Amino acid sequence: MMRIVLLGPPGAGKGTQAIRLAERWGIPAISTGDIFRANVSGGTPLGEQAKRYMDAGELVPDEVTNAMVRNRLDDADTAAGFLLDGFPRNPEQAVELDAMLAELAVTLDAAIEITADADAVTERILKRAEIEGRADDREDVIRERLRVYAEKTAPLTAFYEGRGLLVRADGMGAIDDVTERIIAAVEGR
Ligand code: ADP
Repeated sequence: MMRIVLLGPPGAGKGTQAIRLAERWGIPAISTGDIFRANVSGGTPLGEQAKRYMDAGELVPDEVTNAMVRNRLDDADTAAGFLLDGFPRNPEQAVELDAMLAELAVTLDAAIEITADADAVTERILKRAEIEGRADDREDVIRERLRVYAEKTAPLTAFYEGRGLLVRADGMGAIDDVTERIIAAVEGR
């Protein structure tokens, strides 16, 4: 049983690692970015609300995001644990997550921070943009996403470190090596 949050800058490889780690631990990977993108492509009201923020590299408003995560955590498959990829992304969301977990009478096991330097992540995202064509993978938007990460999300590492939950893992290098590094760090705690 694992309840995990995954932190790290855009392009650090959170999405890729989230799927592998979720498989390893037999839990669902819940990516707020993926849920938003599915809603944007599906033309749902949630997608309509989120799209302009995503296109600009800004955070979708907390009321919208928190409600979405709260609903998702109510699904039966999270009883076995979960890995949150992309949430929380600011201190207010972290407080809200605490409230959701308290209601469910569960606690987090770890906050994993995947580290990567800004030049490397920009290069990775630009490469990915050629393949996937995500609307927010443009150089100016990438820069804004990195800025938002540094300003709003990075402080969460100190928040979780203070609770003894932070596990840092270097996100550079081969995908398999990064996965192994994270598993070793989390399971070896
Ligand atoms: P990346 O980490 O590469 O920037 P994500 O797929 O995690 O990509 O997120 C893409 C976009 O979705 C974000 O820039 C933001 O607009 C929105 N988003 C995702 N998660 C959140 C969140 N927790 N709070 C607010 N907005 C979010």
